[in-house]
Amino acid sequence: MTCSIKKEVIEKTIEFHGHSCPGLAIGIRVSELAMEKLDIQNAKAPVCVTETDMCGVDAIQFLTGCSYGKGNLIHKDYGKSAFTFYDRDSQKGFRAVFMDNFADDEKQTDDTRVLMKKMIQGNATKQEEEQLQKLRNDRINRILQADLKNIFLTEDVDTPPVRPARILKSIQCDSCGETTMESRIRLFDDKNLCIPCFQNVEQKI
Ligand SMILES: [Zn+2]
Ligand SMILES: [Zn+2]
Repeated sequence: MTCSIKKEVIEKTIEFHGHSCPGLAIGIRVSELAMEKLDIQNAKAPVCVTETDMCGVDAIQFLTGCSYGKGNLIHKDYGKSAFTFYDRDSQKGFRAVFMDNFADDEKQTDDTRVLMKKMIQGNATKQEEEQLQKLRNDRINRILQADLKNIFLTEDVDTPPVRPARILKSIQCDSCGETTMESRIRLFDDKNLCIPCFQNVEQKI
């Protein structure tokens, strides 16, 4: 079964992100999974914990109603293509991990790596550029057309992944004077410092 999200919606998601890429395709499919399993876009209290900050997060923000600004999209910097969705209202959730090699054979992976390296170093020929684009497009299509159960390992989650945001005090930085959330203040030489001011003094030591 291929992606059940409408073509126009996928196109709008690509527009929002700025380009089409495999990472965005992963984000689209995991959002689709969250729509199917939790009706996430209509959920009363949805939350997503993403373990990566790559392209796919834009699809999640665009499609699921979980966003950084609302505070119901939380990034944990683990560098994994893993996503937990939870609805605090229905108390249901799941964690999905993208199966990295689900449909790529080793040769395709190796070819992509070699071509990417050439591109980054700026010595890929026109033909190699096209070849890389084709490999990427194939991967995007495979991700968009696969059965969801073949691209994600999924397990149910029955406890909320994070506590609701606490209201924190704001404190004025003793160096720049800017108001800063209490949890981000560093204490140095009896002064309350924001992170950049703390980094400034730390560099001088
Ligand atoms: Zn991208
Ligand atoms: Zn400061």
